[in-house]
Amino acid sequence: MDGILADGRKGTIWLCKKNNGHALGLVVNDKLILFRHAVEANNLGAGVTLGNVDSMSDIECDICKAKRTWHIGEAALERFIEKRLRSEVRNENRN
Ligand SMILES: [Zn+2]
Repeated sequence: MDGILADGRKGTIWLCKKNNGHALGLVVNDKLILFRHAVEANNLGAGVTLGNVDSMSDIECDICKAKRTWHIGEAALERFIEKRLRSEVRNENRN
């Protein structure tokens, strides 16, 4: 899911561990920018940025209290897996 910050930066919404969870922040250029408060993913306008999280840390969702650990490089890894899956699907269609 994509999101956009008030200052125009775009990124991927980083959700807590709950299914259809709460938005904890936005991943921009592989950096996590935390919202001051967790927000419902469909109500992103209320998000306020707090700053970058540079290394590994536990982020607590202040709506449901679920914790999720941010690993630096996670976004890059997800992109890599996504790309890999897409190319595998293409290869299957070719055979
Ligand atoms: Zn939550």
